[in-house]
Amino acid sequence: MNTFDNLNLEPTINAAIKLKGYTTPTPIQAQAIPELLKGKDLLGVAQTGSGKTAAFSLPIINHLALNPKKYTPKAPRVLILTPTRELASQIDLNIKTYSEGLDLKTRVIFGGVGAQPQIRALKSGLDIVVATPGRLVDLMGSRDISLENVEIFVLDEADRMLDMGFINDVKKMIARLPKNKQTLLFSATMPKDIEALAKSLLRDPVRVAVTPESSTVEKISQRINYLKKENKVKLLTKIIQEEDITSTLVFTRTKHGADRVVRLLEKSSIKAAAIHGNKSQNNRERALTKFRDGDIKILVATDIAARGIDVSHISHVINFNLPEDPKSYVHRIGRTARAGRTGVAISFCDEQELSQVRTIEKHIKKKITVDTDHPYHEELVASSKNTGKVPKKKLSMSKKARRRRSFRG
Ligand code: AMP
Repeated sequence: MNTFDNLNLEPTINAAIKLKGYTTPTPIQAQAIPELLKGKDLLGVAQTGSGKTAAFSLPIINHLALNPKKYTPKAPRVLILTPTRELASQIDLNIKTYSEGLDLKTRVIFGGVGAQPQIRALKSGLDIVVATPGRLVDLMGSRDISLENVEIFVLDEADRMLDMGFINDVKKMIARLPKNKQTLLFSATMPKDIEALAKSLLRDPVRVAVTPESSTVEKISQRINYLKKENKVKLLTKIIQEEDITSTLVFTRTKHGADRVVRLLEKSSIKAAAIHGNKSQNNRERALTKFRDGDIKILVATDIAARGIDVSHISHVINFNLPEDPKSYVHRIGRTARAGRTGVAISFCDEQELSQVRTIEKHIKKKITVDTDHPYHEELVASSKNTGKVPKKKLSMSKKARRRRSFRG
């Protein structure tokens, strides 16, 4: 079986991985880690979200754990170069987590903050430096860092380095690295310049490419409806009655919510079933069989209950509530467009779910088309997406207006 225990990492590292909650290596980890432990160079075609950070960090930590050395001031043993400060911080944090229990020193080096603490840390000696190009080149110029002891070099998100105009800094830096080292280059895409850079930088590399989740996501037509919470069931009913739907999976946040949606749909004579943790196994299986056979078109589920559903003909996924975790969004909508089919994913967003839309769009790296062509569209909610808050003043006005309406009966 594909487990971390089979990867031959040091027991301390395996313990840290378990503590972090990982059980199975992701495809890029399973493919890259054994090769990297052998000391091979690597060309990784993968993007954020694939688990690439652990794919390169774990073998690095393993190498350092097995080959302890005294610190040489200003000369780190591992250099990880990444385009943004956020990514650098994330990588640094991950390394610290994965090397829990080992005596390793790792640090970020980037601009926008004072250089002195970084210079002091370098002077006292570091195992791993995670840097962005600008500050690194500055510190090379002032001789506060030397790259002559680098044993492993990682160039992360090479295509973004190119897009952000860092490629000359990167090349300057590469020229100062020792010849004898292990090199890893990661890029989500492989434009010609990166292909050429890889060719000059890597020695007999292993190539590992993982299909990004977004390739399924791209086959799915996604749209979002901004509306008031109280109109969600009405819009759901309208979509089910008017669109060409074969099978639809509706996601709610809670079990109670799932039952409620089913009850309300049934009031409009729409056959639906809910599956969630409060239902017996038999009950869930019966509902799933009916759904698979097409006896019911609508299945309402919570994230956890939906994990085991593998139905190939789902035409629509509807997020009645948006998930907190953007990865759940991708998992949810990936239930449609199975086996080469196309699919439709519709999300409902009320005024309390605006921040989820932002994190989801960041995660899937695209904007979801806004559907305004329905009677419940709420422009105020839609236009507040970037701030995450519907202006209080306007809301309270509309509350007042509602109250006035209800007074009038
Ligand atoms: P990355 O592509 O390195 O940015 O990782 C994406 C996310 O997946 C991060 O939140 C990691 O903590 C998580 N992750 C990485 N490897 C695993 C794994 N084997 N099991 C579960 N989660 C993982």
